[in-house]
Amino acid sequence: MYTIKKLLKNMISANPSSEEKQTFEEKRRQMVQTQLMSRGIVDEKVLRAMAKVPRHEFLPAELWDRAYDDTPLPIGEDQTISQPYIVAYMIQALSLKKGDRVLEVGTGSGYQTALLAEVHEEIYTVEVRPQLAQKALAKLNELGYGDRVKIHIADGSLGYEEEAPFDGIIVAAATFNIPEPLIDQLAEKGKIIIPIGGRELQTLVRATKINGRLSEEELFKCMFVPLVRKEFENN
Ligand code: SAH
Repeated sequence: MYTIKKLLKNMISANPSSEEKQTFEEKRRQMVQTQLMSRGIVDEKVLRAMAKVPRHEFLPAELWDRAYDDTPLPIGEDQTISQPYIVAYMIQALSLKKGDRVLEVGTGSGYQTALLAEVHEEIYTVEVRPQLAQKALAKLNELGYGDRVKIHIADGSLGYEEEAPFDGIIVAAATFNIPEPLIDQLAEKGKIIIPIGGRELQTLVRATKINGRLSEEELFKCMFVPLVRKEFENN
């Protein structure tokens, strides 16, 4: 059994290559303690991934000093990188096993994708905005996640049929109802985490497929950018 102290100690690599890297590691360690552990994130795999993945690398350089703040931040094209707590919460809420297949809808910066790749082996991610997808892909390759992640540029509300079924689906953009293709592409006992609602008020929902039907739980109120549908052309 890990103690919190031991876990935090093990999260920092022994040989940081520069002072700057050390500062970011320290900020991540604080983020894990003050934003995640204190709010009920207990999954060690998730905590380790959050302490390891360099969130600043997924942001423009002018935002690096705010990279570990308790907030979403802009990544261009009116989109945002999610708040660290929300990302950790969603990954923990999927509670998947090793070897499970995971689909992410809304790659964005690729930050959550990298975290998922730390926790699971095979990540499929769909992004509708080609420029964001390409940037995310370059960053994920640069950081060594390339061989565990497959990015598809398309409308993720249609899922990723060629690679289905999935044991877990995480949707990082809000919609009024769970898109049918995502339900179809969910494996039996699979879970989907998705924000449901309009621009202002959304509820994070976790739905589990049991005997082919979804059983839904409401988790908490949240705010995500809207999930755009395939008629989207403005990119
Ligand atoms: N988790 C991401 C944040 C994503 S923001 C991160 O860590 O950076 C939501 C993303 O969903 C945006 O990049 C947006 O372009 C994308 N998106 C919106 N509608 C989509 C759709 N129908 N299919 C795929 N991606 C979509």
